[in-house]
Amino acid sequence: MYLYNAHTHIFTTKCIPENFLGKGLIRIISIPLINKLMLKLLRQILPGQSDFLSKYANFLAIGSNKNQEAVFRDLVDSYDDTCRFVVLTLDMDHMGAGRAEVNYNTQLYEVLQLKLKYMQSLLPFVSVDPRRGTAQELLALVKKYVEEYGFVGIKLYPALGFYPFDPNLDLVYQYAEANEIPLMTHCTKAGVYYKGKTFSEQQIWPKDLDGKQLPQNDHRKSSHLKNRHFKNFFTDPDNYRQVLSKYPKLKICIAHYGGSTEIERFYGKRKKKDEVNGLGNFYEKTRKLLEDKKFPNVRTDISYTLAANKIFPELIADIKNSDLRDNILFGTDYFMTIIEKNERKLVSEFRQAIDAKDFSQIANANVKSYLNSSFFTA
Ligand SMILES: [Zn+2]
Repeated sequence: MYLYNAHTHIFTTKCIPENFLGKGLIRIISIPLINKLMLKLLRQILPGQSDFLSKYANFLAIGSNKNQEAVFRDLVDSYDDTCRFVVLTLDMDHMGAGRAEVNYNTQLYEVLQLKLKYMQSLLPFVSVDPRRGTAQELLALVKKYVEEYGFVGIKLYPALGFYPFDPNLDLVYQYAEANEIPLMTHCTKAGVYYKGKTFSEQQIWPKDLDGKQLPQNDHRKSSHLKNRHFKNFFTDPDNYRQVLSKYPKLKICIAHYGGSTEIERFYGKRKKKDEVNGLGNFYEKTRKLLEDKKFPNVRTDISYTLAANKIFPELIADIKNSDLRDNILFGTDYFMTIIEKNERKLVSEFRQAIDAKDFSQIANANVKSYLNSSFFTA
């Protein structure tokens, strides 16, 4: 029996635009030879940031000076069981963070080469950003990668600066729903986000899937909000209600189950924070979507979120809950999680806490039904 990890990344720092972490930091601390020396220096200049810097140093140790194949090999080597990995590509060309040494086309091309080499274990998703092209062009991109190149699903990352109900995504959803192709979308208040200095019309006063202007939203209109707050408008789980009302059978995984911080807040394990955007709790909203009988194919995964051992009881209770059980997927978010702990430790700590039967439900049965489409059988 295969084990499936439904959420991993293998792109390297070369694929990351220079202002991905702000202020060119990534470029400075990813130069391997002077990495250690620079860190020491930066710790002195920015004393409060030392934790942050050591975390990112680990992160970059994986991503820098290696190619995507080496990052993938490290992932495979972290597992004793025979495991298959959903590898999520990411289009970072439109996030307003400058250029990357390896742009999205090249990143995709490299993953395609790896797919040919690791046919059985590497299950790639093609990333789609509505700013890359017209609805027709995006549909053509997805069709080519799914039907000709054996890519298994479609990846979205709205926090990079778009709404999931962008009209340019309409044909992609129509095609995905008709062919049961899985979509994966990043959905927490954490993670990277749009870095641009200006906001477009579509970002502030967006049109919906049908190209119809939505009512003006006062909060969005007052775009005095910092990007790191504004991005929650892009991410909001409720945005998918608009997409799902048009495509109710769409198979979409709203990844990370709201994130561990939101789970803690929901269960009163952490103080509720003053909401900047008033968008509510993302765990609660994601869970409501999973429970909504109108949308039978909505899923979530526990990737990254499973790095927080203190919320294992709540996660496992949801996995045992018959209303949610079939729709929660196992995934880790390798190698983003390297900031927290290594992949082997991450998985083994979680497996020690969960019954073998429940684990097999989320890491085998659920991921298989999520991945199966007109073009792929898991
Ligand atoms: Zn991820």
